[in-house]
Amino acid sequence: MSDAACPFDLEDRFARELEGLFVPWHAEPIPARRLLIFNAPLARALGLDGDRLASPPGLDFLLGQSPAPRATPIAMAYAGHQFGNYSPRLGDGRALLLGELADGRGRRWDVHLKGSGRTPFARGGDGKAAVGPMLREYVIGEAMHALGIPTTRALAVVATGESIARDGMLPGAVLVRIAASHLRIGTFEYAAAQRDPALLRRLADHAIARHDPEVAGVDQPYLAFYERVVARQAELVARWMHVGFVHGVMNTDNTTISGETIDYGPCAFMERHDPATVFSSIDERGRYAYGNQPGILQWNLARLAEALLPLFDADEAQAVERATAALGGFRDRFFDAHRRGMRAKLGLESGAAHASAEPSAARSDAEAARSDEADALCDSVSELLTTQRVDHTLFFRRLADAVRGDDAKVRALFADPGAFDAWATGWRTRLPTTEDERRLRAEVMDRTNPIYVPRNLEVERALAAATAGDLAPFHALLEAVTRPFDERPGLEAYARPAPDDAPPYRTFCGT
Ligand code: AMP
Ligand code: MG
Repeated sequence: MSDAACPFDLEDRFARELEGLFVPWHAEPIPARRLLIFNAPLARALGLDGDRLASPPGLDFLLGQSPAPRATPIAMAYAGHQFGNYSPRLGDGRALLLGELADGRGRRWDVHLKGSGRTPFARGGDGKAAVGPMLREYVIGEAMHALGIPTTRALAVVATGESIARDGMLPGAVLVRIAASHLRIGTFEYAAAQRDPALLRRLADHAIARHDPEVAGVDQPYLAFYERVVARQAELVARWMHVGFVHGVMNTDNTTISGETIDYGPCAFMERHDPATVFSSIDERGRYAYGNQPGILQWNLARLAEALLPLFDADEAQAVERATAALGGFRDRFFDAHRRGMRAKLGLESGAAHASAEPSAARSDAEAARSDEADALCDSVSELLTTQRVDHTLFFRRLADAVRGDDAKVRALFADPGAFDAWATGWRTRLPTTEDERRLRAEVMDRTNPIYVPRNLEVERALAAATAGDLAPFHALLEAVTRPFDERPGLEAYARPAPDDAPPYRTFCGT
């Protein structure tokens, strides 16, 4: 096939600049390819011709079956702290970076495969992926994107025609993933462990050119870069908390430099609000529980600081001091982002969530006191929902009805509606006084608080059907969660909490 058939031109900057951090590799042949889903809106956003890309010759390129011009596929090397324990060599065991795509608007994106066969990093793994988990990554990623949360996104899922051995035999699939990059904390840990200062510096320079070109010329570029990563990740985890997202496997190799959510393995959305919520079957001690996520992220960012230390200062004590100060910014960044979002969720702000990026500098005493009251409301709501076992998503959504003057729906979510009434007394004093203003405020809340998130039982139902060959429930779920703020008749099932007597939901790694 000639290069003219290739619907995109990929760059290979990672491969050119970062010798030592990858192995050139090729995707395994796919015996009987069947396109399960193609993300036409994402293709459009990337400036790609979706029809050409989804055609058989286009898919050949997209699946690494015929290499795109210029770029050689690579398996990236990385290390990582998994459940707190350091693994010096993880890397893409079943994944490949095909290359980097320029979108015509000055941004570059990784085109990446998952499930494309064993690589030299595969260790004991088979290099494959199953249809269910790859469609899961597709739908959760699209839901996150629709919620406005930074995320990698799936461009396509293709069934391979193979059967792969998991808990029984399952149909195999390859996921095509688009990401701002696949640089992770673990990439830096791996580079630092090579004890090659030039390699670490090249990696940092590469990351700065890709994600933070503004810091290239400043006084302490590597420290400024680190602070940017801290800020992005603080904002990201705050957004997870707002929607009740539990990532489930927040290892340092699953924590990006870009600030995008990555690797939807054992993740799930929390239904009944509880900081102790854990879904992953292997997370026995709840390390990655919902309420632990901000602390874990800070811990992961400390590992990044350790890797970057030699770039912060030649003097180690100085470098540690700088790193500590920079990491210290995480707490404030997180709490600021979290409370800003919570105020919007509770209808205490006139604008939508995340509208203002920075805390206001000068406040009057009266403003400060009102703001402290609002913070206290935000802080108390988690305890209220936990003790009352209230559905996280529905509570915030139905609170808008209470702003409109109808308390019945939100009170009905409480075992003891009196507990809501008691909390709501303070909350009501902070709502607008006129009916018109309250109506507008409720509208803003409806654009802030989703009605549809990928609920666990619906996700499982859709994936089980897809695995058996019926994609209709998957498409229906996708339709609901990609317009998460528009309540629509007929979609009630996607807004319904799991029944009280449902067994605890469990998710699995090793997908
Ligand atoms: P993950 O939990 O998906 O982030 O993966 C953690 C590590 O395990 C990465 O190095 C993956 O490449 C590797 N891995 C996961 N599943 C497989 C598999 N089936 N074959 C080879 N490597 C795998
Ligand atoms: Mg991973």
